[in-house]
This record gives sequence, C-alpha cells and structure tokens, in this order.
Amino acid sequence: MGGLKIDSAEIARVLQELVAIPSVNPAFGGSGEAGVAAFVKNYLIKLDIPYIEQQVEPGRSNVIGMLQGESSGPALLLEAHMDTVQTTGMTIPPFSGTISEGRLYGRGACDTKGSLAAMLVAIGTLKRSGLKLPTGVHLAAVVDEEFRYAGVSALATAISAGELQYSGAIVGEPTNLHQVIAHKGCVRFYITAHGKPGHSSEPAKGINAIEQMMEVIRCLKEEIEPSFELKRHPLLGPPTHCISEITGGLAPNTIPGSCRITLDRRTLPGEEPLEVWAGYREHLSHLKEVTPGLSLTIEEPFIIDYALETAASHPLPQKLGTAVAGYAGERRILGATYGTDASKLARAGVPAVVFGPGDIAQAHTDDEWIELREVEAAAAALVDLIVHFEREGQ
Ligand SMILES: [Zn+2]
Repeated sequence: MGGLKIDSAEIARVLQELVAIPSVNPAFGGSGEAGVAAFVKNYLIKLDIPYIEQQVEPGRSNVIGMLQGESSGPALLLEAHMDTVQTTGMTIPPFSGTISEGRLYGRGACDTKGSLAAMLVAIGTLKRSGLKLPTGVHLAAVVDEEFRYAGVSALATAISAGELQYSGAIVGEPTNLHQVIAHKGCVRFYITAHGKPGHSSEPAKGINAIEQMMEVIRCLKEEIEPSFELKRHPLLGPPTHCISEITGGLAPNTIPGSCRITLDRRTLPGEEPLEVWAGYREHLSHLKEVTPGLSLTIEEPFIIDYALETAASHPLPQKLGTAVAGYAGERRILGATYGTDASKLARAGVPAVVFGPGDIAQAHTDDEWIELREVEAAAAALVDLIVHFEREGQ
C-alpha cells in the first residue's frame, strides 16, 4: 500500500491562512474563534464533507466534519482547539504567518493551528483520494481550550449522551510528534485567614491574618508536600501544589484582618479533585485545633480539571506510534504536566492521546513558530493511521 502523498504547499497555505485569522480567546481580550470556524467550514464544504455545528456560546461554535468510512461503528476523532492566547508582548507580527527557513511564525502556529492544519490536510487528502476508509473519521475544531475547556466540554456532553460515538481520539497539541498518554489534572481554590484588625502600633491587641497565613503556608510546605513523593506516577512524577497568589492587609498602619492565598494543586490520574480538596480542608482543620486564634475559610474549588491516563498498550497509541515512525522515526510515549482537552474526552469514555507537531516550549511565546516539516509529518502519519485502521475486538 503506497502512502498517500501530502502536499507540502497545501500544508503551508492552510496553516498560513489559519494563523492570519485572529482567534484570541475572549477571556484574554480577543475576538474569539468565529473566523477560524468559518475557515474550517469552508474547507469542509469545498471537499464536500458534511459537518455539524455545536453552539457553545453565542458566536462561538465547535465545527465537526464527518468523513464516512466503511464501518458504521464509532468513528475516530481528530480534535484540535481553534482559540489562542493573547498577542501582548509578541516580538513578531502575530498574524503574518511568515515563513523563514522552514518555520512558520505567528500566534497559534504551534498551539495549536499546526495540529489543526495537519488534521484538515489529512482529511482533505483522504477525501480527494476516493479511497474507501476502514473507519469513519470526525474532525472536531473546538472553541475555548485556553480558558475553561467549554468547547470540548460541549463535545464530551454530546458523546456522553450517545449523540456522537468514537472509538478513540487524537487531540492535537504540540508534542513534537511524541504521544502524551497521561497528563495531570488540577484543582484550584482559595484559603482565607481571618484576623482581628487594629492599630499596628499595638499588634498584640489584634490578630494578624498574614501571620496566621504563615502557619497555613508552613503546614502546606512542611506537612502536606512531603507526602506527594509517595504518590509518584511513572510518567508524571509526584503531584505538586503551588501557592500561586497571595493578598492581604489594608493599610501600612493596620493589623491585617484578612489574608487570602490561591492554591493550585496538580493532580494525578486516579486522584479525585474534590477529594483532594477535602483532604486539605481536613488537614487544615487539625491545624486550627492546635493554633490559637486561627480562623480559616477553605472555599470550594473554582476550577477542577481531571487528569488523563490512557494505557500505552491500547491499540490507538500502538497504531499511531507505528504510523508516525514511518515519517518521523521512532517517537516516545510521554506524560505531561499541563492539561489538555484529552482528559475531558477520556472521561466521556473515549480513549484519548495527545499528539501533534511543534514543541510545547514554543507555545504562548513571544515569537511562536513551528517547523512546517513536522506539520507535514503529522498529516502523513494521520493519513497512514486512518488508511490502515483496523478495529480491535468488536
Ligand atoms: Zn493548545
């Protein structure tokens, strides 16, 4: 079976056009994904590939292209987000898509329009070939990955409701064509210490909330953190937590009446975020018992995200690994500390891996770029995977 040829000029053109359409997430002051969604729809229409739209918020819709296969069973899902982070501080024109020495520059080139371009060109190549495909393939271009995962959440809801059925999902993010089969989740919440304000010339007459918070931080660092090592995951290492924000005090001459920290706890597969949070609450309630005057509020989490874990022995990473090796050499199975759309699909019952061209170190940078060669290899590997796809078992 000769491989279908990927047109490198098409790769460059599609990615250049995607980068030229601003799609900064509205949470970061941007205009959103509508322009990119329109581009994806047009691309599908020209190829005569049917699609559906899923409105996530007014003016923000997922676009799902549906390429038919021989089998009427669950399709293979290719998923990539359309939004990008802000362009503030960039040292290159963010939307020019300039190509120099094999690299294409611009906001989103690497995260994750390179992946989206590879997926679009892959299904375009398959459709134009006229080959009968062993499996149906859906391409979902989704909104709002960079802020709160609203796009993939809507997709996952439709999957959970049985409206869409998938045998597996490849989530496009810059992994240098390695496969990320596990990543951490997170739970973020506020802890507030309540003191008793008073004149700072007589500190003993009040209760200093900042000093109370020192006790909390000591407990987090000295009592809770050492236990993380015991939970170590082979691909992800131990869970972590970070005191990522702190505010407190009213005035230079007032005993602070309150002090608040934000705790960002990164979870491992198998850790239930709400249970993790409840664990902190319990531990800190013991601290209250032994610390005179300590009054704390541990608020419910304002962000919860689940970790991802797909077995390395699952057929999807196995087959994708074989396909990639043909175009980019042997690639690895990895874990990642960052979160992606993949864990939301996995929770909806779809085995998911994260895979795409580009380096995560280039994501969100001042001079974001991607190697076009890698985008082309990603498209070729996806085409190869789909053409040779065989369903296991059922
Ligand atoms: Zn991304």
